[in-house]
Amino acid sequence: MNHFPIFLALENRRVLVAGGGDAAVAKLRLLLKTTARITVVAEHAAPEIVAWADAGKLNLIPRAQEPGDALCCVIAYGAHEDAVLDGRTLQLAAADGAIVNIVDDLARSQFITPAIVDRDPVVVAIGTEGAAPVLARKIKADLEASLPAGLGLLARVGKTFRKAADVLPMGAVRRRFWAAYYNEAGPRAADQGEAAIRDALDTLLESHLNAETRPGHVDLVGAGPGDPELLTLRARKALDAADVVIHDRLVAPEILELARREAIIIDAGKEGFGPSTSQDVINALIVEHGLRGHHVVRLKAGDPTVFGRLDEEIEALDAAGLDWAIVPGITAASAAVATIGQSLTKRGRNGSVRFLTGHDMKGFADQDWAALAKPDEVAAIYMGKRAARWMQGRLLMHGAAPATPVSVVENASRSDQTIHATTLATLPDALSDVSGPAVLLFGLAPRAAAQALTHEEIAL
Ligand code: SAH
Repeated sequence: MNHFPIFLALENRRVLVAGGGDAAVAKLRLLLKTTARITVVAEHAAPEIVAWADAGKLNLIPRAQEPGDALCCVIAYGAHEDAVLDGRTLQLAAADGAIVNIVDDLARSQFITPAIVDRDPVVVAIGTEGAAPVLARKIKADLEASLPAGLGLLARVGKTFRKAADVLPMGAVRRRFWAAYYNEAGPRAADQGEAAIRDALDTLLESHLNAETRPGHVDLVGAGPGDPELLTLRARKALDAADVVIHDRLVAPEILELARREAIIIDAGKEGFGPSTSQDVINALIVEHGLRGHHVVRLKAGDPTVFGRLDEEIEALDAAGLDWAIVPGITAASAAVATIGQSLTKRGRNGSVRFLTGHDMKGFADQDWAALAKPDEVAAIYMGKRAARWMQGRLLMHGAAPATPVSVVENASRSDQTIHATTLATLPDALSDVSGPAVLLFGLAPRAAAQALTHEEIAL
């Protein structure tokens, strides 16, 4: 990030715009939304600027810029649309102590003005550091469409109510009050105008004053396989509301980014056979934060109910008397099989599918290898890398065909996703350069079209 986004307080501050053409008019339209004291220096000012000056909205000096014009200005714009004249503005205004923007000249600008979605006092600023103005416009259009026009009114009325809401205990109760206002009661009342919004706030405050201070709540949330687009809406909402997020090693950083900015983020990474936080410590951590009245999100890769040691955590929560809920996620097997363009079950081929783990707490996990060795069986094998040679031996011993296809999908759904198409006979070799989390899809080869479509490495 080369440009640090800030919102500048402009009340009673001076701003200089040098130039009087279209670029100056466009900037002035924005600046006039603020309460800044605006000066325009321009030998030839467009009629709009003259009209604004006549209406007392800005001060127009009808000449070229001179040294001292930008004294006491916080910011200055070079808007001549002329490189030489704007270069002069840059020099003069910077010497006067202002920071300078040259319109449409990123390289010479000391700051840039973002694209803006205006629901005053809610203002969304969008910047791409000059990299993709078209993208910025698209994001702006999307936000314009999704942010209701009444949002500004809700925020304005909400602001006047902040003092009144301070009677609520700080922390979770107050946050719940404001969430209920902005998510439900406010939008419901917004159509009927300001008085209705105020009534809704009064009623809401009453009900929150009388509510008992609720104990904490723990959401056991599936973060999916890595791609944030594969998060459920409910998972996103939980992340939006969380006070504390306790996550696994495999949860992608892009997903943690979605947590509420003020949330405490705790890495409770556990690695099979490697250094790990013990399950007891994790249980204690979740319970501790829950008992403090926090909204805790226990964030697990994939689906929390698949190889997630969920029951141990639920037992700890029950023992502590804490309220909990499971938010399902897309498990790695589903993401992996989508990648190879196959189906986990298929009429006439396999009417059941197994989810297996390659190892458990005691080491390599024993499974019903004889059943899996039969023709046309399909299994998604989690945590199977280290146990691969051992599983291969078991399966071959029980009569599995050495040519049985196995698709190893590494980092499924992430940008570094890789497919290794192999067979039971060559499985351990195919795994030699797999370093990320991988699911072994036993009995499934990548579908030809999927191979052609994705550009992943196919190691045969
Ligand atoms: N609850 C998780 C599984 C946790 S066990 C789920 O439902 O997906 C950890 C194992 O999951 C890893 O060893 C790997 O086998 C698999 N895994 C998790 N994320 C993965 C990903 N993005 N791609 C491939 N395998 C993944």
